[in-house]
Amino acid sequence: MKKLLLFTALLLLVAGCDKPSEKQLTVTTTNSILYDMTRQVAGDQATIKTIVPVGQDPHDYDVKPQDVAAIEQADLIIYNGLNLENGNGWFNQALDQAGRSPKDETVVAASKNVDTIKLEHGSEVDPHAWLSIKNGILYVDAIKDALIRQDPQHKQIYNKNAEIYKEKLVALNQKYEDKFSDIPAAQRQLITSEGAFKYFSRDYDIRHHYIWEINTEKQGTPGQMKQVIDYIRQHPVKHLFVETSVDRRSMNALSGETGKKIFGEVYTDSLGQDEKSNTYYKMMEHNITTIHDGMQ
Ligand SMILES: [Zn+2]
Repeated sequence: MKKLLLFTALLLLVAGCDKPSEKQLTVTTTNSILYDMTRQVAGDQATIKTIVPVGQDPHDYDVKPQDVAAIEQADLIIYNGLNLENGNGWFNQALDQAGRSPKDETVVAASKNVDTIKLEHGSEVDPHAWLSIKNGILYVDAIKDALIRQDPQHKQIYNKNAEIYKEKLVALNQKYEDKFSDIPAAQRQLITSEGAFKYFSRDYDIRHHYIWEINTEKQGTPGQMKQVIDYIRQHPVKHLFVETSVDRRSMNALSGETGKKIFGEVYTDSLGQDEKSNTYYKMMEHNITTIHDGMQ
């Protein structure tokens, strides 16, 4: 009996070793959200790294030598685009240092198929497209296509993983499609530090206001504070929300000025660290339910 068990265990081990291919694709992503999406599609078939660590701001980032090395060595580089990483040019500089270009076939913007929204101030587009689940699904397709282009041998695996993952995201989107319909339209007021929720607000018919429009701008200036304080005083705002990856001091000051409580944390530019927020799926579900509950 013991021998049989050992033999079975050996067989399983050999079968297990046989499964992933000889050559692992190496993928470098710019942030934790793209890392998770890529991991869902690639499964064990790729070695994936992220440049900006969980909890840090991907707009404004100090590139380290190991990031340049990770870009140099990658078979595929996935970035958000829409000026997220390019706001301060850190990604283009890192690509340049690694001898690569955003025009390379191996450097892919996950947002390439998205219907963009312009910033309210300035001519650029808003980068936070992933905060709409519908866009997240478009990201998954772009990532899947990029993986297949670099590693056509494992096309079936990438297609299958992407289908399963997209089905989950489609179901998540359907589950919450009418989530905000029990809140009067005028009361659907979402106030955050950064104006990251434009795509989200388009999906759920929400009024979105903020202290500053995009991280890396001058943040929480007296003029910006005055504008949002006036807005809150004139509209049926129930609570404020604060992002996990920003400096909270401005939101705390806003809460003090207006007497509105900060209802909870929301995830915008990064996943969370804990079990409740360490995937794109979970962060979106958390954002939808938290924002909904805080509007009441
Ligand atoms: Zn942001």
